[in-house]
Amino acid sequence: MSLEAVSNRAASPAGDEPGAAPESGVYIARRDDTLSTIARDHGVSLRSLLDANPGVLNPDVIYPDQRIALPEGAVARPPALVAAEGPTPKLEEGARGPVVSELQRGLAGGGFDPGPVDGVFGPRTGGAVREFQASRGIEVDGIVGRQTWGELGRTASTGPGGAAPVSGDVAATGDAATDRRIAGLHPEVRATAAAFVNRVEQELGIQLRVTQGYRSIAEQNALYAQGRTAPGDIVTNARGGSSYHNYGLAFDVVEVRPDGSVNWDTDWAAIGRIGENMGLEWGGNWTRLVDRPHFQMDFGLSTTQLRQRLNSGDTSNGFVNVR
Ligand SMILES: [Zn+2]
Repeated sequence: MSLEAVSNRAASPAGDEPGAAPESGVYIARRDDTLSTIARDHGVSLRSLLDANPGVLNPDVIYPDQRIALPEGAVARPPALVAAEGPTPKLEEGARGPVVSELQRGLAGGGFDPGPVDGVFGPRTGGAVREFQASRGIEVDGIVGRQTWGELGRTASTGPGGAAPVSGDVAATGDAATDRRIAGLHPEVRATAAAFVNRVEQELGIQLRVTQGYRSIAEQNALYAQGRTAPGDIVTNARGGSSYHNYGLAFDVVEVRPDGSVNWDTDWAAIGRIGENMGLEWGGNWTRLVDRPHFQMDFGLSTTQLRQRLNSGDTSNGFVNVR
């Protein structure tokens, strides 16, 4: 079965509307895109996308209509792995082919370990499927059917908890991208994050946008390589699994002006103070790599402890239990 049949995607849009591909190798950014989402949607690594766009200084913030060069091998694919109404290939151990690769990429993107993306559904991929199913509260049978594909699609578009309902007391922030990224955060962090964004607006008149919340371990490793084994400036000291972003416990913000432009030179000290008053740890106080856009909640847990809980399945809806 071809990937097209699996993904059931719509015909490619024509013209130069945002998100369309007016010429090969270039993508016109839409509102709310980040380099990570563009890489994911085109089946390429964040690293290769960064390499193709040396002018992009912050991979989390790109602008609507910005032209993003696509590296070789990029293919447009929809955020959902399998459309709800589309054909649903049923996969189990022993299956082979591009659909299995798609499954393996989806599992890896959700922080699970299916082994190499080789298109072969072996025991390791089966183990990752069962872990994934357990984390989503669906039947643990190691067989990938409609329900598992659906959960994987949500994982790809919003992070591990995308399928979990947002609790009723999480306020809206007036910024759709921010609300969506907050909804992908750990359930214990969502309400505080939303209240923080709203309080900064009320007290300082500064509208913040959450540029990144949950970040997969694979994305984290690509960022860690930057400035070390890959070109570019060092942007993080955290390897995959050692950032609170990898557990949905951290988020980054930037000021967004009324005209939609972003301001990195905002009043970070005042913003950081409000965050700290609300129980958030602020990256602006770090000494090894000052990270002023970064806020997190650790619940007294180190990332080593979080990773142990994740690996041992001490999770609810894909998020590590923090209490
Ligand atoms: Zn951060």
